[in-house]
Amino acid sequence: MSARCELRYNYPMSDLISRRALLGVSLPAIAAGLPAADAKRLNVVVAGGHPDDPETGAGGTMARYAALGHNVISLYLTRGEAGIDGKSHDEAARIRTAEAEVACRILRVRPVFAGQINGAAEVTNARYDEFRKLLEGLQPDVVFTHFPVDTHRDHRAVSLLVYDAWERARRRFPLYYFEVMTGEQTQNFHPTDYVDITATEPLKRKACFAHKSQGPEEFYPYHEKMSRFRGFECRAEHAEAFVSSALNQRAGAEIRGL
Ligand SMILES: [Zn+2]
Repeated sequence: MSARCELRYNYPMSDLISRRALLGVSLPAIAAGLPAADAKRLNVVVAGGHPDDPETGAGGTMARYAALGHNVISLYLTRGEAGIDGKSHDEAARIRTAEAEVACRILRVRPVFAGQINGAAEVTNARYDEFRKLLEGLQPDVVFTHFPVDTHRDHRAVSLLVYDAWERARRRFPLYYFEVMTGEQTQNFHPTDYVDITATEPLKRKACFAHKSQGPEEFYPYHEKMSRFRGFECRAEHAEAFVSSALNQRAGAEIRGL
């Protein structure tokens, strides 16, 4: 799919040849619209700092995986406790948890909450161990999380926690980084992979608008511009862009299952 564009336009010839060979395996499955039952049903984990981060960073891709029959988990480090002005942490957590559950139903994915607190995310040895156990328990086949260079501390925290779990798991699953509010939050992001989300952008939009407390009428147009821009880069109407761990490429992985 979108990777075709990336192969054609963003890579020097040596990479183009090797990556075309790698990605060739997955492309026919998409073209034929094969459901997961015809291959392996994957556990796809998309880890974000707050309710609305997985949806904005990778909602279209999550919907694509779900539509193919894969098992998609939206993993939230926090419940957005500090994210509604004038509300207590408990009230905001209740509201934002409910919003995340609605968004997940729209995308046909499952929410999981990691139990940290918005604005106070910790990266300690104990938190590394706690998060690793949680992620391992989800038995991921592929994981997406925030790009680590990001102005929000919670985004950086979950990115580091995922990275550490990935290392501890001996890099058993491919790891991809997504972008949110690029320029304002994610910084220095140079995509290696694209997913065409033209067909699922309406679902992504609906899921993002489920986060009513976060002003989707303001944040979604920002992300819509991003998906249109990423689409320009790979000749799709809307696309989501990712940075793959370079080690994924060496291991011969693609964006698994797409
Ligand atoms: Zn966030």
